[in-house]
Amino acid sequence: MTNLFATQATAQEIKPGEFMCPIPITVNDRAATREAIIKKVRSLNTTFLERSSWGAVKGKPDMVMDWDYTMIALHHAGRSHSCTPGAEQMQEIQKGHLSQKYDDIGYHFGIDCTGQVYEGRDIRLQGSSVLKFNTGLIGIVLLENLTTPEEGGDWVAKGRVALDSLGYSTTNVIPAAQITALMHLIDALKSVFVIKHFGGHREYPGQASEGKICPGNIGMELVRNLRAKTQLLPPPAPQE
Ligand SMILES: [Zn+2]
Repeated sequence: MTNLFATQATAQEIKPGEFMCPIPITVNDRAATREAIIKKVRSLNTTFLERSSWGAVKGKPDMVMDWDYTMIALHHAGRSHSCTPGAEQMQEIQKGHLSQKYDDIGYHFGIDCTGQVYEGRDIRLQGSSVLKFNTGLIGIVLLENLTTPEEGGDWVAKGRVALDSLGYSTTNVIPAAQITALMHLIDALKSVFVIKHFGGHREYPGQASEGKICPGNIGMELVRNLRAKTQLLPPPAPQE
């Protein structure tokens, strides 16, 4: 769905040989910026699905707004996920987050294994993906499990370590199409926001439970590679 936004400007007469004065233009900037992100991703030949295209339900009313984003956090969907169709995973994650009393899906964007980008929480609203760091932060989730077998150190991990020892690999490789889509999305976000930091969820100080694992050792390798490529900085020091 394309939202309309209003632009207002006053006409001015230009006489030959005179420079034009800049005209202040009033724009519904945030809606326009959301559109610009979507257009930019699509212009890079990456599929972008808006909320209406993957069957998102409405978030709670009166959610907190946010803007002037400077940080991006990368997540994996979690240890119970794998490369299944993205729309269904987005629906499942949204349902899970709403049942945990979140106002909506916590991430701003999801990317499936085929490299399709999904709009999560509207970019005009504050996300809910990194404990104590949600202000000024954009959350992106890769829709699979990117841990190595031993991560978590619990019964799930023990089972995977056992399977690995029997020759059944339970470690995913991030598909190239998904990495390309992530790079395109980061490019699009950098084109409209002054992004300074890019980190894996667990790199942000003070995380708890699965947040200490996310986005997994495989996901963290990608974070370090992309940081080198994009010149972005690791997460900032703890906030007071
Ligand atoms: Zn996470």
